[in-house]
Amino acid sequence: MSSERLAPLIVLAGPSGAGKTTIVDRLLSTTKLPIRRAITATSREPRHDEVHGVHYYFWTRDEFEKKIVAGQMLEHAIVHGRDYYGTPTAEVQGPREAGIAVILIIDVQGAEQVRRACPNGLVTVFLMPPVFDDLAARLRKRGEPEETIRRRLESAVRESACIGEFQHRLVNAEVDTAARELERIIESQFPQPRSATCSSN
Ligand code: 5GP
Repeated sequence: MSSERLAPLIVLAGPSGAGKTTIVDRLLSTTKLPIRRAITATSREPRHDEVHGVHYYFWTRDEFEKKIVAGQMLEHAIVHGRDYYGTPTAEVQGPREAGIAVILIIDVQGAEQVRRACPNGLVTVFLMPPVFDDLAARLRKRGEPEETIRRRLESAVRESACIGEFQHRLVNAEVDTAARELERIIESQFPQPRSATCSSN
């Protein structure tokens, strides 16, 4: 399939705790559009409820570095100053060629690499919490240690400075509303079907 015919690629970025995964899960459970979330990879430890191959591919640093050297990563970055995170190319290319839109939940460094690597059919969205102070509360609810929360809030300030580089901004005041808005943005990126033409004879 030529690159102009690829299904859309959606980059969703925004501070940790803004609700990116919640909104994407809501969208995926309600939409009729062909959309999937790419499973990305990380070298951080899984949280107690996280499953390899479902929430992330949990790789060691060594495994991660081998994939980078082998050219198998579409993008990768050190996020929150500590762990590798990245998108395996295989998570994106095949589905898009098959007409399925792919959502990447990644940080602003990854977003910049994807802008350069995949400009065709790309739509970038930045998600903000309604109030910045909410972030610390949302992170605490996840049971993160204070040191992790501090690092994530520092990243949030850095990430928010990049908001101008995104085509769309969404505020997560209400999950259903934000999920519907994201769906609308994605729908508008699908190639529109040509209107049927009638021919006499
Ligand atoms: P968490 O550790 O809370 O699961 O994720 C932390 C942050 O890592 C997320 O907010 C997201 O922005 C970023 N992230 C997750 N997967 C990827 C990825 O594949 N690439 C990049 N660059 N960032 C990612």
